[in-house]
Amino acid sequence: MNRPLPVIGRDNAYYWEGVAKGDVLIQKCTACGSLRHPPSPMCPECQSLDWTTAKATGRAVLHSYTICHHPLPPWEEGPYAVILIDLEVEDSDARPRIVCGARGIANEDLRIGMPMSLVFEDGLVFAGPEVSP
Ligand SMILES: [Zn+2]
Repeated sequence: MNRPLPVIGRDNAYYWEGVAKGDVLIQKCTACGSLRHPPSPMCPECQSLDWTTAKATGRAVLHSYTICHHPLPPWEEGPYAVILIDLEVEDSDARPRIVCGARGIANEDLRIGMPMSLVFEDGLVFAGPEVSP
């Protein structure tokens, strides 16, 4: 069984189009400038429906993680990590969070607060050890 593909709709198409090009795009309200993720049609700060996107730089910090032991989906070798990372975004001090998987780092080497870099694989976003620019 293959990994299920993300469900893509009107509100999140920009995100997956960015990922396909190797970018993580975060919604940015054009009325108040706040960033928001996951995708939504309305700004939770000012209720504006107008938005654009801001690009993540590729740098992130590990906010938290969990190690999944059971049950394993058929496309994962386990135990595997599900991680929560704070993204650095161009021209912003905000650090929106995304949930993703880890690549290139052993589960026992994960440390909350460690710097990480985004990894794009099979049309999905992961995070791995920090890569120097
Ligand atoms: Zn707003």
